[in-house]
Amino acid sequence: MATDITFAIIGTGFGGLGAAIALRRAGYRDLVLLERAADVGGTWRDNTYPGCRCDVQSNLYSFSFAPNPDWTQTYPSQPELRDYLRDIAARYGLRPDIRFGHDVTAARWDGEAQRWLITTSQGEFRARYLIAATGALAEPSRPAIPGLDRFAGTVMHSAQWDPAWSADGQRVAVIGTGSSAIQIVPALVDQVRSLTLFQRTPAYVMPHGNRPVTRRARLLYRRLPLTQSALRVAAYWSREILVLGFVLRPGILRRAEGLWRRHLEAAVADPGLRERLTPRYRLGCKRVLLSNDFYPALTAPRAALVTDAIAEVTADAVVTAGGTRHEADTIILATGFKVTDNPVHERIAGRGGQTLAAAFGQTYLGTVVPGFPNFFQLAGANTGLGHSSMIYMIESQLAFVVDAVRATGDGTPRDVRPDVAAAWNRRLQRKLPGTVWGSGCSSWYLDAAGRNLTLWPGFTFTFRRRTRRFRPRDFVRLHPG
Ligand code: NAP
Repeated sequence: MATDITFAIIGTGFGGLGAAIALRRAGYRDLVLLERAADVGGTWRDNTYPGCRCDVQSNLYSFSFAPNPDWTQTYPSQPELRDYLRDIAARYGLRPDIRFGHDVTAARWDGEAQRWLITTSQGEFRARYLIAATGALAEPSRPAIPGLDRFAGTVMHSAQWDPAWSADGQRVAVIGTGSSAIQIVPALVDQVRSLTLFQRTPAYVMPHGNRPVTRRARLLYRRLPLTQSALRVAAYWSREILVLGFVLRPGILRRAEGLWRRHLEAAVADPGLRERLTPRYRLGCKRVLLSNDFYPALTAPRAALVTDAIAEVTADAVVTAGGTRHEADTIILATGFKVTDNPVHERIAGRGGQTLAAAFGQTYLGTVVPGFPNFFQLAGANTGLGHSSMIYMIESQLAFVVDAVRATGDGTPRDVRPDVAAAWNRRLQRKLPGTVWGSGCSSWYLDAAGRNLTLWPGFTFTFRRRTRRFRPRDFVRLHPG
């Protein structure tokens, strides 16, 4: 027997918890959160690798309605963010509504019943509204390197860290040089016997501004919350300015490349190593990374940077083109996530059985999809950011969700008009090639066809303005059948 419910929310990261809070505040309490894991936190629960820290300021990378005066660092570490989300779940009384260990295996729109039928690993639900808060960075991407399965040592993805694993005395191979790798490398380099970093494409690594929050500052945030709000506003605008370079005038980012060069040169004396760490694309095309200890870590005697392509993995080594064997006891795959090809998109089917995977590029406002009535996706297509806090985007989407639910309270489901969604996507796809992300590099922002279905090409306040209101004329009413 399926459980009848008004709202089913998949996921309990920032998106899922935020959705439950927003709905409750609007007076809707008949909801359930389906969570495949045993705890809340989403990507901030899963990414437990050493050194994991957010690259957006704590005061901005948190819910606007729930500031945390107790951040101990100006940029939050993974454990602090996980604890923040646990605290949010407890403070807002959400735990009774969460079904842990409920992995959604299928969700399909039943046109006759006008309900979403959701199958999980522990039972079925029938919901009027479905909210997918499944996250963009939730499904680890494992590279298809020949022989990887034959490796006799430990193979770990950065997002599936084994807490029992010890770096002591290990010869470690790290594959990848994205945000995760540049945090893992310095965290491990002093413990391991050797660390070999396999780099396919160098990244721009810029100085990180993280520092401790003093006790006095924390006291001030408690006594005078406006001081913390002011810092949030300052952080927001200091990031919004970056849109001028990323979106409007990529050419001006050349100036920032000078800053990057000084950062590299201050840490790395060897011209050969500097050369190999020098990107050949415009700064910002791939995500700009922040670290003060990544470049220094590569100069450690136990560290080696390998830039030859990986040919295969054998039982005890990573072999590069030309046949050089790099022996290892552990391989760490810091190889990113399935973003536009998240497998959960295959499991959600709208009208006529079309999957979200097939319809992903047709999303409107990054939130609703033609053929998917009463369905909302958080952090959906073209809502990602290269410059600021995703929490701001999620909160914008949630305002839209609540407004849409209010507007559809008459019980008739609404489906976004395909022509409205198509016009929206045409505009985005006309704009994106002119941004820095379209300036000629490969990145996880682009799908297999080279389309950017990931990032929002503009100021975040523009997205907020567009998602402030549900516009009935953009939708059609659906009658049973
Ligand atoms: P990523 O940015 O996608 O980086 C993956 C890395 O693996 C790239 O260097 C990529 O090389 C390399 N790679 C992939 N397949 C490979 C293969 N077959 N052979 C060799 N190299 C391969 O992944 P990530 O570092 O996990 O970060 C993903 C996103 O998560 C970030 O962009 C960020 O949004 C978020 N994140 C944020 C933080 C933070 O806030 N500090 C921390 C971690 C993650 P190519 O560049 O050549 O493709």
